[in-house]
Amino acid sequence: MYSDVKLYINGEWCDGSAGKSEPIVNPATGQVLARLAHAAPADLEQAVHAADKGFRAWRKVSAFERSKLLRKAGEIIRGRADEIGRLMTLEQGKPLAEAKMETLLAGDLMDWFAEEARRTYGRIVPARADGVMQLVVKEPVGPVAAFTPWNFPINQAVRKVSAALAAGCSVILKGPEETPASCAALVQAYVDAGLPAGVLNLVYGVPAEVSEFLIPHPLIRKITFTGSTPVGKKLAALAGQHMKRITMELGGHAPAVVFADADVDAAIKQLAAAKFRNAGQVCVAPTRFLVHESVLQRFTEGFVKAAAALKVGDGLDPATRMGPLANSRRIEAMQMFVDDAVSKGAKVLTGGKRIGTAGCFFEPTVLGDVPRTARIMNEEPFGPVAPIVPFASFDEVVAEANRLPFGLAAYAYTRSLKTAQAIGSAFESGMVTINHLGLALPEVPFGGVKDSGYGSEGGSEAIEAYLNTKFISQFSAE
Ligand code: NAD
Repeated sequence: MYSDVKLYINGEWCDGSAGKSEPIVNPATGQVLARLAHAAPADLEQAVHAADKGFRAWRKVSAFERSKLLRKAGEIIRGRADEIGRLMTLEQGKPLAEAKMETLLAGDLMDWFAEEARRTYGRIVPARADGVMQLVVKEPVGPVAAFTPWNFPINQAVRKVSAALAAGCSVILKGPEETPASCAALVQAYVDAGLPAGVLNLVYGVPAEVSEFLIPHPLIRKITFTGSTPVGKKLAALAGQHMKRITMELGGHAPAVVFADADVDAAIKQLAAAKFRNAGQVCVAPTRFLVHESVLQRFTEGFVKAAAALKVGDGLDPATRMGPLANSRRIEAMQMFVDDAVSKGAKVLTGGKRIGTAGCFFEPTVLGDVPRTARIMNEEPFGPVAPIVPFASFDEVVAEANRLPFGLAAYAYTRSLKTAQAIGSAFESGMVTINHLGLALPEVPFGGVKDSGYGSEGGSEAIEAYLNTKFISQFSAE
């Protein structure tokens, strides 16, 4: 049952004190599901003070106990995957199976950070003089302001919140206004696992107003944001003015390189699955399909067939393989990318337009003969449109793969170990996956370089973002 979504501040679910709210819309039908409470500045101030109080208590809870609580939250969320998956599909649009999978993966991420909670080791550095003890200790950075988007309403939030809690930090989570109920259900799982009041707070509102309030606030010590590169740059600049620690998980434009010696059928199957998952609204989605000219025709025919065969519809229908886009802005963006590419000489090989007028459905689209000047070759499409471009040589494809300022994910297919090693090291990218889809597991690093941001939200690196390193040198004459 989908109902109104409230704020969670200092251990209470509440409405905003100014009485403001906004509608939550089902992107498959256009119908209003419920309303979302907005935080007023007074509510944000209360959340900051709750997080400050929560931090002081939580940092004293032993790593062993923090770990147990995170594991319990993981069990709770796994047990609710059916009902939470349904909320997510209603508000975000993705097929129910993808929504349930995202909820179950949240449990895995909680488990991972539960383990990492117990491994925030320091070290002892050998001293130069007798009686001196040199200690390196890790301490939680403090109250965190975390901003997460609508494409993976649980996954983007659980990575930040679990790492912060594991480290001993408190959190104010500014969840995604378009998809708030599944994010609220995530918060409820930590609460039901026994998290004390104030340690985790959830707010919604006008994103710019919330970030401009929280980032400069002297009690907030760390900022973490997932979203577009332009917004990330603004928030990083604001955080810089106030000398706050930051993690930025921003946009991408992943090259997917198919070499002449690739298993082309495997490349088609895997890249089509990765491209159209969540209707292409994935920061690590393959985006520029760079295919060796000798296999261009075969790859293109197979990829077009796979795209055209996708059953598009309401995510609640078990037959659906691709749901609607999350909002009407994405529909406008897809039409703009297609029209722009066509006006510059590209050919629409399949798809190319909106489906119907109810809901935000867009055809899985493949473009051929796409010039480098087309906007889709330069800007993150964040939707189900795939441009295919031929290449002739290794050096040429490396230059194209690294041409853009983005550096999040990169894909390659080749049967040659030598080529695999060469492309793996040549990509200017935070994550590379070769001959399979191997990104985003809890235990592996997740993050970008260049304009795609900095910091990691997976692997043992992820908890570091929430820890300060303190050095203590202590002399004792005895
Ligand atoms: P947008 O840039 O307006 O918003 C992206 C996200 O940032 C949203 O969650 C939004 O609430 C938040 N946001 C926007 N302005 C903010 C501010 N001043 N302070 C704090 N948060 C703010 O765009 P959109 O239309 O929602 O999404 C479109 C683009 O966003 C996509 O093209 C894609 O590049 C990017 N995006 C990236 C991811 C990701 O996983 N990296 C997720 C969602 C969106």
